[in-house]
Amino acid sequence: MRTLSPEFTGYGWAPSTAEIARLAGIDPIEVVRFDGNVAVAPLPSSRPGAIAGALARINTYAHGGYPELLDAIARYAGVGPENVVLGAGADDLILLCARAFAGPGDSVAVADEPTYPLFRIGAWLAGAEVGGDDAVLTFCCRPNNPTGALEPLPEARPLAVDEAYYEYCGETAVGLIEEGVIVIRTFSKAFGLAGARVGYAIADADTARELNARQAPCPVSSLSAALALAALERPPDVAPVVEERERLERALHALGLESLPSHANFLFVPIDEPRALGDALLRQGLAVRVFPDGIRISVLDREDDDLLVEALARTLDKPSPVPAAGRRRIRRLRTTAETRVAVRLTLDGASRVRVATGAGLYDHFLEQLAFHAGFDLILEGSGDLETGEHHTAEDSALALGHALNAALGDRRGIARYGDAVVPMDDALARAAVDLGGRPAAELRLEHDPGLAVHVLGSLAQAARIAVHVEATGRDEHHVAEAAFKAVGRALRTAVRVESEGIPSTKGLM
Ligand code: PMP
Repeated sequence: MRTLSPEFTGYGWAPSTAEIARLAGIDPIEVVRFDGNVAVAPLPSSRPGAIAGALARINTYAHGGYPELLDAIARYAGVGPENVVLGAGADDLILLCARAFAGPGDSVAVADEPTYPLFRIGAWLAGAEVGGDDAVLTFCCRPNNPTGALEPLPEARPLAVDEAYYEYCGETAVGLIEEGVIVIRTFSKAFGLAGARVGYAIADADTARELNARQAPCPVSSLSAALALAALERPPDVAPVVEERERLERALHALGLESLPSHANFLFVPIDEPRALGDALLRQGLAVRVFPDGIRISVLDREDDDLLVEALARTLDKPSPVPAAGRRRIRRLRTTAETRVAVRLTLDGASRVRVATGAGLYDHFLEQLAFHAGFDLILEGSGDLETGEHHTAEDSALALGHALNAALGDRRGIARYGDAVVPMDDALARAAVDLGGRPAAELRLEHDPGLAVHVLGSLAQAARIAVHVEATGRDEHHVAEAAFKAVGRALRTAVRVESEGIPSTKGLM
């Protein structure tokens, strides 16, 4: 092999989730990663249906590339399709820019250290050196990873500006592409597609043509292109992430951890012994990115972030500034020989739900139930679908039921009863629930697409609740869906905390 700069070191990956789980002595489901700066969940557009068309043609090449995706990216970025270069993530475009502009004997400049390590790696892999005079290319990262800072744009040209976190700050150098600036962006962060590996560069038409000529023939898979295209139909709203970043920042400050002002979806906290703190968190199943002079924390969502804040408080021996976890929220993993189902449930949620086990219709029904109950629910899993949906759908319902039972705790103060009537086109469902602790299921559905009654019954059993449903209609899907929605609406009322007491004349449940 060609020798590279004596300074060369390759990209260092963080430990895998399985490794962290082993170290912490917990199940991988309990590991929460604050070290990837990725979205807490995929966008709603990232569903099997989004890739179905591409999967049906997976035996062919994307002859001629992805003109539709180029158009959609161009519209999103406010440029023409002739200005767009596709790549397998922003990393691919960083490497492409480095090798297109630099070679042995050249020097490449990198602004704002510390910064994203791939700029140096790209330069070294091209055979060039980093630093020195007369740089043939300058890289800068805005907002900067790991600090989150939005430093002034360097004057140097040609200049490659990594805008991986553009969506979180809204500031871009795209207006300068006719003046020697190349902008690099990704679907890995705000668009929630890190695993799909899709990124793009934006440059003046001549530079974009030259970069495309130096790029691999088809660097993005058709499945990934389909996901990116689906995501662009409704670009993400990052406002909740920015709001959560500000909340997390306040919680960290309350612990004496002064994070730097950030324009991205992460916070950098300068501290004296970052390695020791990082290791202590890792032993609790929480991964942050450790740097020589601090730690970098990805902003996830309130629940996950509070786990980290609590762990930091424990580790630093300070009072936690956030409410203790455990109350009406729960993480559970249920495994059998046939299925593996992970559940994260918050009763006092905002109907943020995602159920993904592959048991299509029943995933949809459980989503409807949780949505109408006002829960936050992530239920992910996989099962022996090759034998049919039975095991997977049943175990998902049992896992959700067990989680609901655990999240209800001693059921003190809850309304206990709830009922609802839900029409859905031709179907009408009535449901009543009793969360008194005795499981029962009286389920009369005029039609059942297969497992609806069984799934509701399993849920009632595992959650220790009584569920009564009557649903009529012509279409089996509508009848079942109305039933799940009605149970959800009834649960919404029944789980509400109304008082301090036990909602039973017996004084116990
Ligand atoms: N640039 C920056 C600044 C990043 O932080 C990252 C992700 N770690 C990347 C690029 C790589 O993104 P992608 O997944 O698109 O390759």
